[in-house]
Amino acid sequence: MPRLEGKIALITGAASGIGAATAALFAAEGAAGLVLTDLRPEALAAVAAPLGERVVALAHDVTREEDWRCAADEAVARFGRLDVVVNCAGIALPGDIEQTTLADWRATQAVNSDGVFLGCREAVRVMKEGGRGGAIVNISSVAGMIGDPKLAAYCASKGAARLLTKSVALHCARRGYKIRCNSVHPSFAATPMVEAMIARSRSPERTREGLAHASPLGRMAAPEEIAAAVLFLASDESAFITGAELAVDGGLTAA
Ligand code: NAD
Repeated sequence: MPRLEGKIALITGAASGIGAATAALFAAEGAAGLVLTDLRPEALAAVAAPLGERVVALAHDVTREEDWRCAADEAVARFGRLDVVVNCAGIALPGDIEQTTLADWRATQAVNSDGVFLGCREAVRVMKEGGRGGAIVNISSVAGMIGDPKLAAYCASKGAARLLTKSVALHCARRGYKIRCNSVHPSFAATPMVEAMIARSRSPERTREGLAHASPLGRMAAPEEIAAAVLFLASDESAFITGAELAVDGGLTAA
C-alpha cells in the first residue's frame, strides 16, 4: 500500500531542493492531494507540473500571517482537510556573531523561525477540526542541535524550530488533538542552497570536499534521502512518535 494513501499534505519551500524532493516522494507514495507552496511561483510550477492533477501550486511567503491563512484555507477548500504540513522553506545567510547584521539576523528568523511558528499554528488550527489530527514535520538542521561558528543567525533560527516542535507536540498531546509534531535535522545535502554556498566560497572544490567529509559517511546527502525521513514522520508508520528530532546527517552529530 502506498505510504501516504489518502493523505492531504502541504509542503512549503517546494520549488527547490528538499521541498521539491519531498513533493515528488509524497506524490509517488499516494498522497491524495498536495498543496505545494513557495515564494517563487515559476520554479514551483515546474516542480508541480509532472506530479499530476491533485496538486495545487501556491505563491506563499511563509513570513506572512495572511499568506499562511490563505494557504491553509485553500488546502481545505480544495481537498476538504489537511493531514500533513511540512515546514521546509528556509534560508541560510552566512556570518559569525561579529559579522552578522541585524537585518540578516531578522531576515533569517523571519523565514526559519517565524515561518515555522506560523506553519505550526495554522496546521493545528486546521487539523484539530473534527478531531482528525495530523502530522507536522519541521525541517530544522544539525545547526539546530550543535553550533556552527559561521552560521550564528541560522543556528539560532534552527534551534528555535527544534524546541518549538517539542512544545507543539506536548500541547497537542495534552489537548488530545491527535496531532504529532517532529523535526528533521539534515547535515549538508546537495541542494541549490548548498551549491550557492559552495560557489560563494573562496575555494569551491575544497569547500565541497570539506562538506562531504563533515559527515562520518564521507559524503553529502541527496535531497531524496532527507525526503525519505520526512515521509516516515508524515506517515502513520510513525504514529507513536511525537516531539522527536531525527538527525539525517551521515553520523555528524554522533561524534
Ligand atoms: P533550497 O534553497 O533549495 O530551497 C528552499 C526553498 O525555500 C526555495 O525554493 C525558496 O524559494 C523557498 N523560500 C525561501 N524563503 C521563503 C519564504 N519566505 N516563503 C516561502 N518560501 C521560501 O534549500 P534546501 O537545501 O532544499 O533547504 C530546505 C530546508 O532544509 C531549509 O529549511 C534548510 O534550512 C534546511 N536544511 C538544508 C540543508 C542542506 O544541506 N541543504 C541542511 C540542513 C537543513
